[in-house]
Amino acid sequence: MCSCGSPLLVDYNLDELQKNFTAEDLKGRENSIWRYHELLPVEDRENVVSLGEGMTPLVSFTNLGEDMSLENLYMKDEGLIPTGSFKARGAAVGVSKATEIGVDELAMPTNGNAGAAWSLYSARAGLQSTIVMPKDAPEITRTEVSLSGSNLYLVNGLISDAGKIVGKAVKDYNLYDASTLKEPYRIEGKKTMGLEIAEQLNWKLPDVIVYPTGGGVGLIGIYKALKELKTLGLVEGSLPRLVAVQSTGCAPIVQAWENGERESEFWNDSSTLAFGINVPKALGDFLVLDALYDTDGCAVAVDDQAILDEQEKIAGLEGSFVCPEGAATFVAIRKLREEGWIGQNETVVGLNTGAGIKYPDTVQVDPEMLEKNDTL
Ligand SMILES: *Cc1c(COP(=O)(O)O)cnc(C)c1O
Repeated sequence: MCSCGSPLLVDYNLDELQKNFTAEDLKGRENSIWRYHELLPVEDRENVVSLGEGMTPLVSFTNLGEDMSLENLYMKDEGLIPTGSFKARGAAVGVSKATEIGVDELAMPTNGNAGAAWSLYSARAGLQSTIVMPKDAPEITRTEVSLSGSNLYLVNGLISDAGKIVGKAVKDYNLYDASTLKEPYRIEGKKTMGLEIAEQLNWKLPDVIVYPTGGGVGLIGIYKALKELKTLGLVEGSLPRLVAVQSTGCAPIVQAWENGERESEFWNDSSTLAFGINVPKALGDFLVLDALYDTDGCAVAVDDQAILDEQEKIAGLEGSFVCPEGAATFVAIRKLREEGWIGQNETVVGLNTGAGIKYPDTVQVDPEMLEKNDTL
């Protein structure tokens, strides 16, 4: 982080790269985020800490699209990545770069998935890690962190409270602060979602990209990636309209967008079953809002019941068990289609940021339905 308290972002010499880099160069490269190494901050390939993350499927959702009267709907499926959430992308690049600059021990607050990914990638890199998470975070993520040998602390509060504890620990024990946007490399990992979407659509950008937004790093990253691809001449035309989706129980970015503000206000008593997007105030909120305004995008809040209904609908129509945050994305798409904000022929990509099976306690199947399944 900059000493002024603002996030730092990584810049590349794109003018230089543009002279001799084309889409052809990517042909035959490994199927992971590291295929884009020219656009990633790790200088020496020896420092790369990888579990094969990236190049997740871009799945056509024809049935769900039909249900919403939308002809070109896709899901980018981050459920199929090491650690079961897209947080692996940020962790892979963040931990690799931490290794490169000689870090021994890092610390971070988390709502669960980021802590799981960073502790596991740290273990692979031989780094010590300290993870602080709300005690209500999904239990599976706690298990992942403990199992990796990381120092785990639970806090009776929200991620913002965990952040304060980490802030103090970092100073007192001289740890590397890996909090969202306090180091600039996590966003570089997350931006690879944008690079992949462009490549998977054969360098023809979609009209709309919809993203479940907590800290907003994924959305800021996708926006950054698309701008870099444009500078490199790999994509043309206007950028997709970016949409930030939040829960009605925690919608600071939506509120700011609706009021035309450049920054959000702390959302009191936030709560949603989509744990990954329960962030009452994001450090990079102004970057998220810039991305929405710049691309003529918007921000949408959806409620928890609609999330559960959509999750069931997606499983039934498409055979995909998405996480609640991913389901929120498709609730928003449905809503924007109904309102006419999304046109029938537009190409729309929704991010499913994690695997539904990481949330075994979220979905309550009707007990009557289970009773019908007699034991044989
Ligand atoms: C962290 C997380 C999000 C929110 O991501 P940001 O980039 O921080 O906005 C969404 N979904 C899941 C499953 C997450 O773990």
